[in-house]
Amino acid sequence: MPDLSPMAHSSPSSRAWSGIHPSAHPAADEHAAQRIPGQARDDGKSISGRTSDDTSIDPETAWDAFSRRDRAYDGRFVVTVSSTRIYCRPSCAARRPRREHVGFLADGAAARAAGYRACRRCLPDDVARDAAAVSRALALLDRAERTPSLADLAAAVGYAPHHFQRLFTRVAGLSPAAYARDRRAARAAAALREEGHVTAAIYAAGYAAPSRFYADAAALGMAPAAWASGGAGERVAWYVVPTPLGALLVAQTGRGLCHVGLDERVEALAALLPAALLVAADAGERSRALRWVEAAAVPRDAALTGAQRRALFLAAVRATARADA
Ligand SMILES: [Zn+2]
Repeated sequence: MPDLSPMAHSSPSSRAWSGIHPSAHPAADEHAAQRIPGQARDDGKSISGRTSDDTSIDPETAWDAFSRRDRAYDGRFVVTVSSTRIYCRPSCAARRPRREHVGFLADGAAARAAGYRACRRCLPDDVARDAAAVSRALALLDRAERTPSLADLAAAVGYAPHHFQRLFTRVAGLSPAAYARDRRAARAAAALREEGHVTAAIYAAGYAAPSRFYADAAALGMAPAAWASGGAGERVAWYVVPTPLGALLVAQTGRGLCHVGLDERVEALAALLPAALLVAADAGERSRALRWVEAAAVPRDAALTGAQRRALFLAAVRATARADA
């Protein structure tokens, strides 16, 4: 069983999950609209992504998504097959029926009302439950003081570990372990800024061993002491890369990525690293930044909130930069 925790030995990690009921998934959202829901709202309010949007996906787009088994459309509509009277999620692995037998409805409730039954292969009614579980796992990882094991994380949202590992990775664009590592690095960075001193930061951030702290702090692109001092003695090259989620500020040192932020201006970087020498990236640095951004998965699952998609994208860029270092 993979263990995500850097210090699973130091305390029972299940402590962090007390009060979370494993079987508490949100009730199915049975909105009556027969229209196909369009783009999920980006306001961060929708957990399940099942909104009663007025926009609709046209049949051509839906057929294209179904044809290429695009998982990003799972949960946004269901596919009905008149010859078999079953309905599927767009990404169903089953062989594609002829176009004239295929229809599109808003959700499982609409399909059942029309006399279809759920496909046993792709389990279309589980889409909202799956996505809600990933969304809850992300929230748990965001606020966990200690990184839980995969088994504890999966149990907290009511899934078997290996299945959940695959599900999380598919929806989030990176594994639970990679996301947990990213959260730890963010906490290490915040502790360094707040404490202004490495030793104090290690204990403030709850690390049992300095070696773990240094491993996580490798994502800072500079020595922890330099980060704690606001980047003193560091040359930081910045570049803004357009992405599907907005303009992305990418800052790097000779060691690698040191900061990445969506819709941030260089002023934000100056506030973060007031003692660093900030310069516009040269050609080599620009191409390195582009390489990191292009290699990062853009999470598109409609069930994720806009805030989650942005956070996951930033984590994915940091992960690709780290792998490239
Ligand atoms: Zn199916």
